[in-house]
Amino acid sequence: MQKPRIHILALGGTIATSPDATGAMQMGLGADDLVRAVPLLASVAEIEAETVSRVGSHSLGFDQINALAAKIRGLKADGIVVTQGTDTTEETSFLLDLLLDLDKPVIVTAAMRNPSLTSPDGPGNLLAAVRVACDPWVRAHAKALGVMVVMLDEVYAAADVLKVHPTRINAFASTQTGPLAALVEDRVVPMSLPVRDAITAARKHLAGAKDGKAAPVAVFWMSLDETGRVMEAVASAPDHLGYKGAVIGAMGGGHTPERAIAGVHKIAAAIPTVVAPRAGGGPLLRATYGGPSSEIELRKNGLIWGGRLHPLKARILLETCLRAGLSRSAVTEVFDPFG
Ligand code: GLU
Repeated sequence: MQKPRIHILALGGTIATSPDATGAMQMGLGADDLVRAVPLLASVAEIEAETVSRVGSHSLGFDQINALAAKIRGLKADGIVVTQGTDTTEETSFLLDLLLDLDKPVIVTAAMRNPSLTSPDGPGNLLAAVRVACDPWVRAHAKALGVMVVMLDEVYAAADVLKVHPTRINAFASTQTGPLAALVEDRVVPMSLPVRDAITAARKHLAGAKDGKAAPVAVFWMSLDETGRVMEAVASAPDHLGYKGAVIGAMGGGHTPERAIAGVHKIAAAIPTVVAPRAGGGPLLRATYGGPSSEIELRKNGLIWGGRLHPLKARILLETCLRAGLSRSAVTEVFDPFG
């Protein structure tokens, strides 16, 4: 039987590092090197390997991922595996998920332990990602699954997956929803399909608007006794320092410190500002608490409600909306179904 054709696109990251003369790990390996290190790949798929960049994912940008999505759209393969660093996998995978609507698997994978360490996870993660991309259930449900992240034999939805530890090998989790599938022996065991209605609705708003200009989005993390002065400074600065939108990592169900409220109002008046849970995801309140910086007042004062999205994912969605030229009211409509 013909094996599925899987196109591997290598961006860099720990999975692609090798030691320099000082022993420091440098991102230098390309897609061919990654494939050569996993001979078993050839028994699973027809592999095509392409090096897109050799950078740490902390240095990737929206333009690069938009270009990557355009490249993926043009590929004839049966499935696509992107390798990159773990630092921004939770963001880039969600951006790809918003930009792509393919009926074939698109999977992002990476490594926590570099190739010079005992038990590096890169080769195993790459093999697992290719196995998932080739799996009949995954291929049949590719559109419903959206972009996936495969790490340590678990499959996660891009909208939900988070990097929950800076160094541990098991650094990824979907804390709100759990994994979509697990790999056991050489089998993919399906466990759930993600609820994607909000993403499908967002994509309708975004359809047709392509190749817009970058729209930088600032994140303001609320914390005990925060003054809100940085928000005020950005709101009053010329051209808002280039920021076109903002995300507030809000406390609890959607609150900010009362002393920060002047800054909150100023930034929300200046640029579209989304409230997202600093708890890391999960629906926000809408109508429980009163008081000047409660969710009821913030919502009355033009703050856009981010719903269940983690602030980093809300930032990806807001940048994508603003890059597409959506109005403030359209942005509000995009975020509303996220809860
Ligand atoms: N900061 C680098 C990156 O994200 C290395 C971390 C990693 O790959 O795990 O590419």
